[in-house]
Amino acid sequence: MSSKRDYYEILQVEKSATSEHIKKAYRKLAIKYHPDKNPGDKEAEDKFKEAAEAYEVLSDDNKRARYDQFGHAGMSGAAGGGFGGGGGMNMEDIFSHFGDIFGGGGFGGGFGGQSRGPRRMKGSDLRIRVKLNLEEMVNGCEKKVKVKRFKQADGVTSKTCPSCGGSGQQVRVTNTFLGQMQTATTCGTCQGIGKVADKIPSGANNQGLIKVEETIDLKIPAGAREGIQLQVRGKGNDAPFDGIPGDLLVLIEEEEHDTLKRDGNNLHFDLYVSIPDAVLGASKEIPTVNGKVKIKIDKGTQSGKVLRLKGQGLPDLNGYGKGDLFVHVNIWTPTHLSKDQEAYFEKMRDDDHFSPEPSKNEKSFFERVKDMFQ
Ligand SMILES: [Zn+2]
Repeated sequence: MSSKRDYYEILQVEKSATSEHIKKAYRKLAIKYHPDKNPGDKEAEDKFKEAAEAYEVLSDDNKRARYDQFGHAGMSGAAGGGFGGGGGMNMEDIFSHFGDIFGGGGFGGGFGGQSRGPRRMKGSDLRIRVKLNLEEMVNGCEKKVKVKRFKQADGVTSKTCPSCGGSGQQVRVTNTFLGQMQTATTCGTCQGIGKVADKIPSGANNQGLIKVEETIDLKIPAGAREGIQLQVRGKGNDAPFDGIPGDLLVLIEEEEHDTLKRDGNNLHFDLYVSIPDAVLGASKEIPTVNGKVKIKIDKGTQSGKVLRLKGQGLPDLNGYGKGDLFVHVNIWTPTHLSKDQEAYFEKMRDDDHFSPEPSKNEKSFFERVKDMFQ
């Protein structure tokens, strides 16, 4: 996948390009590399497809946002689907976008292939939520999910729609005071597909679809976050009669970690140490997303000290390294003491060693917070 070119580079636009700008850039390339203009030229065809793929993503606000965050990994992150996975887009997919680009006249006959025949149905998208824990978000993961989807039943056959003769349209002629008027409407029998079911196996509905439960392998890239949506192409509901299947949209939810709190790419952990440990120094185990690590508590550690474990946070979505894990040291004050212990502390009350003497070097809470973000 790493050999794939950047979509912005393909369309030769800035990352900040407006949708109008992107449309224009794509139109230019599509005209230049169109197969009708470059018959038999494989390289032109590849460029044509590449541009179409880039446009498909960058012209869709959702897909563009995901691409900006994840790059190509976000687009094909899910198994089976993705543009990169299979053979890329086929010509039919590409031409189905041309209505949008070249619609409204202007381009006219150049693309002769576009006829107003029956439409290809697209199956509806399915949505699921997947909960990930911190470890899975940090390292990426594979998940198997069960999805109930409409699938084309085996053995379904279709025939030309008897109502519209396969055109997908019904023309009504009405008499008005202006004379005869023809209005074309979508055929009610076939919903514009031009075909109806012929043989339907038992259990399938009248469009030849049957509800099945399928297990789908999801490949979730490292750096996923709450609220991010991944797309598995073609794993939504099938459309009847060889239409285009819908997509499976996977919404990521974050499972809260027991002890690690997330703040952007950084993690925070509250460590409680006893008075003796703070006074004498100690070695403590800290949970991280990749297992436990030992850290050293220096002799004479003050409450509120923050230790920074570099790179133990989450990977940055834009690929700029990793966040850190901040360990906040809290000194635990005992609430129940024996008579002897109470007597000991009573004796230490006026001892110089126990009286606070914050030096100039002792940073205030606010300074420490400021430091953390530098
Ligand atoms: Zn029909």
